[in-house]
Amino acid sequence: MGRPLAGARLSGGGSGGHGPGHASRGGLLGRMSRALVACVARDDVFRSLGRVALPELGDWCDLDLLQDGVLRRIAAFRSPHGQVHGPPSGPPSLLSRRVARTGRPELLRGPSKQVLLALSSEEEALPRLQEAGLLDCLAVPLRLGDQLVGVLSFATRERAARLDEDALALAEDLAGCVAFALETHRLRQELEHTRHEAEARAEALDRELRRQVADFQTLLDVIPVGIGIAQDRECQRIRQNTWFSRLHGLPLDSNISLSAPEGERQPIRYLDKGRALAPEELPMQRAAATGQEVLDVELELEVHGQRRGTLVISAVPLFDEAHRPRGSIGTIQDVTARKRATEAQRFLAESSAVLSSSLDPEQTSRTLARLCVPALANTAALFGWRPDGTLGLVSVTHENLAAESLIASTELPAISEGTPVHEAMVSGQPRLLAVMDFPADSRVERTDVWRELRWRLGIHSLMVIPLSASHGVAGVLVLGSSERTFTEDDFTFAREYAAHASYAIDNARLYREAREAVALREEFLGIAGHELRTPLTALQLGLQSLVRHAATSGDCAGVAKWVATCQRQGERLNRLVGDLLDVSRITSGRLPLVLEEMDLAVLVEEVAARMRPELETAGCALSLSLESPLVGRWDRSRLDQVVTNLLANAVKYGQGRPIELSAVATAEGVCLRVRDEGIGISGVDQARIFERFERAVPDRHYGGLGLGLWITKQIVTLLGGHIHVESEQGRGSTFTVELPQRVEG
Ligand code: ADP
Repeated sequence: MGRPLAGARLSGGGSGGHGPGHASRGGLLGRMSRALVACVARDDVFRSLGRVALPELGDWCDLDLLQDGVLRRIAAFRSPHGQVHGPPSGPPSLLSRRVARTGRPELLRGPSKQVLLALSSEEEALPRLQEAGLLDCLAVPLRLGDQLVGVLSFATRERAARLDEDALALAEDLAGCVAFALETHRLRQELEHTRHEAEARAEALDRELRRQVADFQTLLDVIPVGIGIAQDRECQRIRQNTWFSRLHGLPLDSNISLSAPEGERQPIRYLDKGRALAPEELPMQRAAATGQEVLDVELELEVHGQRRGTLVISAVPLFDEAHRPRGSIGTIQDVTARKRATEAQRFLAESSAVLSSSLDPEQTSRTLARLCVPALANTAALFGWRPDGTLGLVSVTHENLAAESLIASTELPAISEGTPVHEAMVSGQPRLLAVMDFPADSRVERTDVWRELRWRLGIHSLMVIPLSASHGVAGVLVLGSSERTFTEDDFTFAREYAAHASYAIDNARLYREAREAVALREEFLGIAGHELRTPLTALQLGLQSLVRHAATSGDCAGVAKWVATCQRQGERLNRLVGDLLDVSRITSGRLPLVLEEMDLAVLVEEVAARMRPELETAGCALSLSLESPLVGRWDRSRLDQVVTNLLANAVKYGQGRPIELSAVATAEGVCLRVRDEGIGISGVDQARIFERFERAVPDRHYGGLGLGLWITKQIVTLLGGHIHVESEQGRGSTFTVELPQRVEG
């Protein structure tokens, strides 16, 4: 081998000779190599030593390895049986430790005490070693490259298998094999360990990744923003989150990209001011194509031809490693409610301005329906009471002209009782009829014109809103939609609008009433001035004549005539002033009744006697037909006023024809009737002549303030009675007063 050997080298006895064992040692390395290759576990390596190498190289074999800088016994084999003696315990031998220290192989040949000492350790005591009869021993370092990793030792007692230089060289080669096998095993273990660690890390990473994906998915599901993800530049496939699919009303797994292949495309349109955008104009497609952000694009969404709302869409591009765009992420927000609220406020402000610009209630009513279309509904109709007392359509607006002319060409009957519009008009309660179904076969009963019209216009959602004005319900606004289902928000807003509109109508009405009242006052002042001047002039004339007669002659008859004239004019003046005072008393609720037991027949006769001069002047013959007595508890002077007014009117409008005045007892009290054959009163005028200042004759022909019948009616009502007129123009009038015998309460 040409190498110096450490320690005592015993050259005697069998040196250089080959014992019987030597022959088989020749193939030992090969056998050992094959055995080691087959080793799976570290113990297998040790066992191979015991099984293959020990029989060839001696009777004892120890394997000591350096662990953490300390040499420890790992395996020990003792023949004749070649088995491991128990667990490898105890410290390595002196020889082994020395070789570990020096790093040089040693061969010690015996028998000698030196061999026994070298092999001794705490465990292997000298006497035992002596007893074992050990002859030679050797120890070789186990190396890996430059590094010493342990020591392999053999000892023999067989003379036939003495250890020599060849055995030492063989042991060294063997040590190389063993060291290599142990290292291979260590590396394999390390590899295994690393693989396990890597697997565990991969598993942990996988778990973490799954958790993050789940968290991300949850976030995508709950976030109230629509999110779409496209992984290709053309955005041929856009995956959507829950909110996105909810906004579109399409299944979560559907591809909502407008750039999708033909067969996959969904019936979606995005509109900008009414124009449907092409796929490449959409924000996500633009971001993916250009690599630029596209922010806050406001678009209207339409799915299946139905408007679903207003969206604000933003998109950011996704890039690959080379920073080339490879797709995009889009966010979609539903701003329908926000936009509608803003529009609603603007609409309210604008509509209030428009509505209040007109002071004509009818004009305002028409405008209020028109303004609702299309801001609030497809159709807006206003219903109100008609002169004949039925409820009917006042005005209607439809966003589609053809539909509007369909309505105009339909003969629409009055709204019948029990329908929502009629109920709203009567109760003042608004109603939301969010979804109204048509019969399954979409045919409506031909008799119900309104329902058929609704069906033909396709209106399935209605809001019925009364316009509550200060004097009651002024009309009912009906808003209909064929596109949308009205929501509670729409309903609230429509009511708010109706409140504004009612206010405007009320204002217009009050303004008109105020204007009419002013005009009436002007007219009244003119009439009153004229009326008061007439008797005053007559009175002045009478007094002048009286003075003249008194100065010139003692014409008593002439004086008496002029005195009577003055008296009449004075009474007339008195009546006029009395009427004016009564108006203010009655309107302020201060017309006290002085009730007493009295006879109406007597009163009528008194009035008739007092009015004889007027009757005569007018040329009217008066026939009285009185039941007597007609006793009751009434206010004498007020009843006098009633009879006087009615008789005076009969004289005034009687055209000099006969007048009948009758008074009879009835079951409840009395019935007074004044009948003339004069000019009569038309049906329309009969309804209003009992109102204040209402007159049915030209002022120039007939004097009067238009107060007599109003005062009469107030008195009759205060006395618990009724007054009505039956008349025919040109044929005379009959005024009938019915009074209870006494005032109730
Ligand atoms: P005035 O006689 O001062 O006008 P009234 O209140 O007494 O006021 O009457 C109101 C209106 O009713 C009259 O202007 C007239 O047109 C109508 N009228 C009242 N009585 C008669 C009557 N007997 N015949 C015809 N018209 C009448």
